[in-house]
Amino acid sequence: MTAGRVATTLRRWIDSGAAAKDDAGTGIDWPRVVPFLLVHAGCVGVLWTGTSVVAVSAAVALFWLRMFAITAFYHRYFSHRAFRTSRAAQFFFALLGASAVQRGPLWWAAHHRQHHAQADRPGDLHSPTLSGFFRSHVGWFLSRENFATREKLVPDLARYPELRWLDRWDAAVPAALTLALVATGAVLERKAPGLGTGPWQMLVWGFCISTVVLWHATFTINSLAHRFGSRRYATRDDSRNNSWLALLTLGEGWHNNHHRYPAAARQGFYWWEIDISYLALRALAALGIVWDLQPVPLAIRESHRAAQRDGRCGSR
Ligand SMILES: [Zn+2]
Ligand SMILES: [Zn+2]
Repeated sequence: MTAGRVATTLRRWIDSGAAAKDDAGTGIDWPRVVPFLLVHAGCVGVLWTGTSVVAVSAAVALFWLRMFAITAFYHRYFSHRAFRTSRAAQFFFALLGASAVQRGPLWWAAHHRQHHAQADRPGDLHSPTLSGFFRSHVGWFLSRENFATREKLVPDLARYPELRWLDRWDAAVPAALTLALVATGAVLERKAPGLGTGPWQMLVWGFCISTVVLWHATFTINSLAHRFGSRRYATRDDSRNNSWLALLTLGEGWHNNHHRYPAAARQGFYWWEIDISYLALRALAALGIVWDLQPVPLAIRESHRAAQRDGRCGSR
């Protein structure tokens, strides 16, 4: 690898806008995904750092907080405009979403809109039916052709310069989170040694382990929620409702419901379909932070009953 190529690779780790002419093809861009691999490798560090209540608590809290930012904001707000909020809150939750290390809000929303437009048909970027588990779970976003933000699909978001800025420099957010965790660990080691933590342990648990679990939990919606579960609605894709995935992802496992009506703020369509993100959004609405949560029209929600009466089965 020439010095020029090394410099380009390093620049692309921190500057998502640093596209190159060879950003094409379905092959995995190995130099570019080294940070993704390193975070996985970092989890092994737990063998040396050990465990403490405070470090595990940080990992768990950061998992749920960032999962909420992804499900409620990257997905339901930025991708589907399922509710409204202020420009300041929009940016705040975009920052929180970026801390989940799933690239910027425009990148995420654009690729997700592409998924809905072509779900499980040619053109879908992560269909397990068409391209298998590995590609639908991780392979698609590691490949060269999917690094650039498809700005044509998100003109409504691209008109905000602060969101475009964050979309380009999204790596700064997890970098800041990493520094904050290391600094917290260092302070606790000196001021409260009885807690048994330190900078490396906070890094391994708070960032590496929390992020890796968060990643793969999120990715299951693309891979497993199009394969395993039940189909209430006869959508044109293979989406499934899966209660286990719904618990793991704060409500996203009601994926067949979601493909039936993506515009809704809720994905659990009935009271027994637990959708923690929706409950949290209702709490934010009560505080006036978000509003206009889009409901599921009754005719849509009950459409499977009409289909059953007409002899069309919801499963396939
Ligand atoms: Zn889907
Ligand atoms: Zn969606």
